[in-house]
Amino acid sequence: MNAEQSTPRPQSSPYVSAGLSQPGAAVYPGLDEWRSLPVRQQPHWAEHPSHAEVVRELSALPPLVFAGEVDILRERLASAARGEAFLLQGGDCAETFAGSTADAISAKVRTLLQMAVVLTYAASVPVVKVGRMAGQFAKPRSSDTETREGVTLPAFRGEIVNGFPFTPEDREPDPARMLKAYHTSASTLNLVRAFTTGGFADLRAVSQWNRGFMSNPAHARYESMAAQIERAVDFMGVCGTDFEALKRVEFFASHEALLLDYERALTRLDSRTSLPYATSGHFLWIGERTREIDGAHVDFLSRVRNPIGVKLGPTTTAAEVTDLIEKLDPEREPGRLTFISRMGAGKIRENLPRLIEAARSTGSTPLWITDPMHGNTVTSENGYKTRRFNDVVDEVVGFFEVHEALGTVPGGLHVEMTGDDVAECLGGADPIDEAAFEGRYESLCDPRLNHKQSLELAFLVAEQLAK
Ligand code: PEP
Ligand code: MN
Repeated sequence: MNAEQSTPRPQSSPYVSAGLSQPGAAVYPGLDEWRSLPVRQQPHWAEHPSHAEVVRELSALPPLVFAGEVDILRERLASAARGEAFLLQGGDCAETFAGSTADAISAKVRTLLQMAVVLTYAASVPVVKVGRMAGQFAKPRSSDTETREGVTLPAFRGEIVNGFPFTPEDREPDPARMLKAYHTSASTLNLVRAFTTGGFADLRAVSQWNRGFMSNPAHARYESMAAQIERAVDFMGVCGTDFEALKRVEFFASHEALLLDYERALTRLDSRTSLPYATSGHFLWIGERTREIDGAHVDFLSRVRNPIGVKLGPTTTAAEVTDLIEKLDPEREPGRLTFISRMGAGKIRENLPRLIEAARSTGSTPLWITDPMHGNTVTSENGYKTRRFNDVVDEVVGFFEVHEALGTVPGGLHVEMTGDDVAECLGGADPIDEAAFEGRYESLCDPRLNHKQSLELAFLVAEQLAK
């Protein structure tokens, strides 16, 4: 007998309140199996005086996303895997509480919508829009500690765990930050929902915004495609297209499911099916550092119904891919599994094909998307973590080449970007150089494409899609 049958179902709620000690938390076989497995990248805070109370509180809070929306996204991703849609996923490496302002959120959504218009036109298929937003607060680190000038403190693990400033107080993990992350995600998602359904996303407005980008002579190369898009939108207007419908866009939220205390507390049973859904975001992914097959992250995510992504770095083996498929997509369900390759521009052409072949041999139909950021990180002469725009583009081109050669579907793009005029990645047609980092490098973690670089990348990917 499962938890659903043993608990009266509140008719008015889309989620079953099944946990008695933790109201709202899902009780379902296997959901806590991860606790008995090796778990990487977690703060050691279980003994913290507020930990149990915070987890209880989180477990009782409303879900941030709904199971029905998650199911729609799974269908959209299945379309992308068949080549009938294209996924655009983007946002900060690490969101911050102070940075989750209306202006920053709107600039990011606006940039993603602008990119999506360009990609839609070129691909002639719908673009599935997913923000790396409203929950991207936890970061994996290569070391548990950081040492500066002889002082060693816990590494910064994202604002959901501890603070960025290099002081003992800030770096101390604090479970109460999970509540702040939840509430910041809720307010971000609220604004995103308003923007994407309230008229802000009107296709005609988005097309107008792209004019600003085109007015920069550095972008002349994209003139003809931009003009074609504008003409297409004008043409739709003349034909009496129902622009009311085009005022609304579907927009989904995603983040790396790294902090398992948080993800577990926000897991709920869907009242329609009694199945568990992670309700912290629509799409969750497992990072390169936590994808070991017998580890806690893979186990936990194997048990929720959300579409799941897994990052695949350059050392990934074919056996790892087939094992991940067996564990995460045993039913071979379209849309369930997305592989996000992040090989590096110099490695993708050599390393990706055998992983695609391995997946193909299992009968699974994962969606393959490219993250051209994380395999291309370098340190600039003046000491900043950066990426060269040309390397990012080269990895994307390599991704398309590999899929073309294999006859498989290059299904999407995953980028670290922002809508603001930051200087964190080098190059672009209106180039950012190292000197610009000094005043405009804002990321607490990895370098993001700025607004112009993001749009330029969309035009370059569009050229690949239109081939
Ligand atoms: C990230 O997406 O910010 C990240 C840490 O990526 P990866 O797991 O691919 O290294
Ligand atoms: Mn990153």
